[in-house]
Amino acid sequence: MPANHTLWRPYTQMKTAAAPLEAVRTEGCTIELADGRQLVDGIASWWTACHGYNHPHIRAACESQLARMPHVMFGGLTHEPAERLARRLAALLPGDLDHVFFSDSGSVAVEVAMKMALQFWRNRGAGNRRGEGRTRFLAFREGYHGDTLGAMSVCDPDEGMHARFGAALPRQLFAELPRDDAAAARLEALVAENTGNLAGVIIEPLVQGAGGMRFHDAKTLATLADVARRYDLPLIADEIFTGFGRTGTMFACEQAGIVPDILCLSKALTGGTMALAATVARRHVFATFLADDSCFALMHGPTFMANPLACAAANASLDLFETEPRLAQVAAISRLLEQGLAPCRDVPGVKDVRVMGAIGTVQFEASPDLADLKRAFLERDVWVRPFGDIVYLTPAFTITETELRQLTDAVVGVVRQTRV
Ligand code: PMP
Repeated sequence: MPANHTLWRPYTQMKTAAAPLEAVRTEGCTIELADGRQLVDGIASWWTACHGYNHPHIRAACESQLARMPHVMFGGLTHEPAERLARRLAALLPGDLDHVFFSDSGSVAVEVAMKMALQFWRNRGAGNRRGEGRTRFLAFREGYHGDTLGAMSVCDPDEGMHARFGAALPRQLFAELPRDDAAAARLEALVAENTGNLAGVIIEPLVQGAGGMRFHDAKTLATLADVARRYDLPLIADEIFTGFGRTGTMFACEQAGIVPDILCLSKALTGGTMALAATVARRHVFATFLADDSCFALMHGPTFMANPLACAAANASLDLFETEPRLAQVAAISRLLEQGLAPCRDVPGVKDVRVMGAIGTVQFEASPDLADLKRAFLERDVWVRPFGDIVYLTPAFTITETELRQLTDAVVGVVRQTRV
């Protein structure tokens, strides 16, 4: 067995995949490889490193926390980095999203959100003693919410990468996004018909990321939130990708003026330095968990929840949003992505070019040979990872104009040489 089979890699056919590149150092928007090559990072490490790599302020906060207390369990104990982070998130998030439950990855944050919605109904007396009734979720086609079983069950059941698990997953309801009046009417009919079975609705607001960087407008999101509100269904906003400025506002929900009942965060929460996630609930959701009976409590508690190092990194990341002009940088990136990717519109085989905030996407009419594309990007010294039928850029918000130009030029060059 080849030596590199000891390490089982993500989303990888281990038999045929090329060996991964060895990264030895990161700085700003650059990934340095063991062979000395310097790559400009176009995707900020799976959309996390919003301040660039090794930001000195985050590094200093982590070093200081490391010297005092890298970790302590969260059951029965608390600590200042978590207390402060929870208060700051509650203040930053819209409305009364005031109750923060920490975990360690986006998928787990989604699991916790689903569990909260399920228990919200149980605590309100819905369902029988075995927990039957109000067990299903309404989710959207092309959506993606993570790789654990509950999260997989609300991903697109046919087109998503988890389609082959369908029979093993809880059965959920899927709808199209209510982009127009007819779709809104269909959505409402589906909800009305199933209202007694539904525990909640889950959506990636404004951008369905891993499903192909598909955008919808604020009106669509507001329509959906309105249906959920009228049928008293908890709305879960998965802002794991969109949170912290990626779409142009601090949170995507702000653009539709909505306050979801439960909201999930991860990825850029620590500025891409540490694994941390949060599931945040509104006051009326949290209130259903308060009782003299302990079985009303949320029965969840990851070993590394609220890891102090990760909370210190997240606090430092929030400092940077306060002290550096991140949203203005996103607006500038947006303009440069529009300009830089515009030439792709005229390339045969390109179906769409779209930009929202610091997300730029070129969609082909069919899936190209991804291995070829990845090689072509490396030849241009940029780190870009196309998937499905798209090439996309989600750079750090601190990227320089020159670096961004290098990325968009590389995308235009590679798209021009691609046949689909
Ligand atoms: N939700 C969304 C919207 C995501 O983009 C992702 C990760 N790509 C997840 C959930 C899962 O997060 P994680 O990989 O940290 O489990």
